[in-house]
Amino acid sequence: MDENRRGFLKKVGCTALGVGCGLPLLGTGCGARHGSAAEEIFSDQLAMVIDVDLCNEDVRRACWNACNSEHNVPFIPNPEITDPDPENSEDVDPEEGIKWIWRENYENVFPDQVHAQAQKALKENPLPALVLCNHCTNPPCVRVCPTQATWKRKSDGIVMMDMHRCIGCRYCMVACPYGARSFNWRDPRQRDEKTGELLYFANDELPSKTYPARSIGVVEKCSFCAERIRFGKEPKCVVEAEKVQPGALTFGRLRDAKIQDKLSDKRTICRRISLGTGPNVFYIV
Ligand code: SF4
Repeated sequence: MDENRRGFLKKVGCTALGVGCGLPLLGTGCGARHGSAAEEIFSDQLAMVIDVDLCNEDVRRACWNACNSEHNVPFIPNPEITDPDPENSEDVDPEEGIKWIWRENYENVFPDQVHAQAQKALKENPLPALVLCNHCTNPPCVRVCPTQATWKRKSDGIVMMDMHRCIGCRYCMVACPYGARSFNWRDPRQRDEKTGELLYFANDELPSKTYPARSIGVVEKCSFCAERIRFGKEPKCVVEAEKVQPGALTFGRLRDAKIQDKLSDKRTICRRISLGTGPNVFYIV
């Protein structure tokens, strides 16, 4: 991407910050809508429950690898790491990397849940958690999109993304309080000038022959594997996690007994619930 375009997008992002911050996140209406009108519309809402204790390193890697392969997510390495590991989400470039599902430290995921004693315990036994788009009931990213490139699907509440309609303004990225969206600063299919090989995919090929690759200048994020749900399949991360550690990830309609059973656990929390976005990814901690 040339510097002019990048500079423009960065400025637009700043403008969006002003817009996004003043918008519904801070309004009282957000909290009020979750649990009333919004739930009526999305009564078939899909949801995920993540058991943090069961999500060991093997599970986290399985989810990362499966999602990246399924959706042709490029591995753009952190230039400050000498020998970056494509199977480790922490080795992705923090500025320009693409992430759909990845690991974060507990205190970053649940900043409002960490008290002084928990801080101490977490230092001794850090508990990274898997994070992804929460497919919020009241998604601020949808409200700020000027082209309806992102919208909440009525049939199942997935927050969808149409990369063809995305104009790269990045309002949605600023509005999302969870950092769940990534921007393609580079062409994911960029090739090495000397060797001609793909720079961001192993074995010089896109891992998925069916999922469309993205272009430079568009935003992307987790889709709860909408392309698989169409055919009655569960998201790829859920399938792969189950092979490693049964029960680590549970997926289904919010009203399904298997989800409701998990949600009745007293240790179930959501990310930054006070913002009123209504996350549909829940954590057992
Ligand atoms: Fe939008 Fe972020 Fe909520 Fe996903 S987590 S629906 S990107 S606000």
